[in-house]
Amino acid sequence: MEVIRRLSQRLTLKPIAGECFRLGRTTPFLHTKTLILRFQNNSIFNPGFPSFNPAINAKFITTSRGFSSSSTVRTPSGWLGGLVKKRKVMDLPCIVKAGDPVLHQPAREVPPEEIGSDRIQNIIDDMVEVMRKRPGVGLAAPQIGIPLKIIVLEDLKEYIAHAPEEENKAQDRHPFDLLVVLNPKLRKKGNKSAFFYEGCLSVDGYRAMVERFLDVEVTGLGRDGEPMKVEASGWKARILQHECDHLDGTLYVDKMVKRTFRTIENLDLPLANGCPKQGVR
Ligand SMILES: [Zn+2]
Repeated sequence: MEVIRRLSQRLTLKPIAGECFRLGRTTPFLHTKTLILRFQNNSIFNPGFPSFNPAINAKFITTSRGFSSSSTVRTPSGWLGGLVKKRKVMDLPCIVKAGDPVLHQPAREVPPEEIGSDRIQNIIDDMVEVMRKRPGVGLAAPQIGIPLKIIVLEDLKEYIAHAPEEENKAQDRHPFDLLVVLNPKLRKKGNKSAFFYEGCLSVDGYRAMVERFLDVEVTGLGRDGEPMKVEASGWKARILQHECDHLDGTLYVDKMVKRTFRTIENLDLPLANGCPKQGVR
């Protein structure tokens, strides 16, 4: 799940250009990515200037098994200051975007005897790294093209600090350490629910309200193969539900309140008639 809007906007200033580009070391699917730089005004290009230069956009085109998508990100001139020829292709998988079949079909359980293997441990390491690079607060294995039941999540003080206090309070959002769960099974606890906006790293640029249970319990296996149980409420419970949905081939857009769907830029605009208000039910 994507980090809240204010932070994600702020952090788009970070160079995310090498976020992906491994030719399938752990993923069965081939992903390639081409970087196209578009200089709108070369005259103000300043390699030494460390902050964001809005005159420069970098466009990435991702191709995944014959499916393609594209997104435009802005990069800081500081990164461009290193010039493209110096950019190293980093050894990380791509985030798969909506429309790729791997996001729309159920993932498979990880055989417990394989959890200790290099393959599975590498997948977990990659997922954590990709999540932190974007940054996000959760990621499911299908989002890097791997149809296995693995989720990772974490929420940090620094992420939360960039959201208004009243929003964090309403969402019951608190920091928590990295959680890795394999073959998770989610169960609601109680019937209370809440409506809040969500975003997804696989659905760039949009938000919508989704109703989620307030309290859940997740059982599964840790990365050490040992059984584990997580009890969560509030925002952490929401992240768990969002990530577990990915393992069923469900995106938040499959569950959203449709008339609340909007671009990130329009997030604060009024809701249409008939939409639920944000908050706990
Ligand atoms: Zn997601």
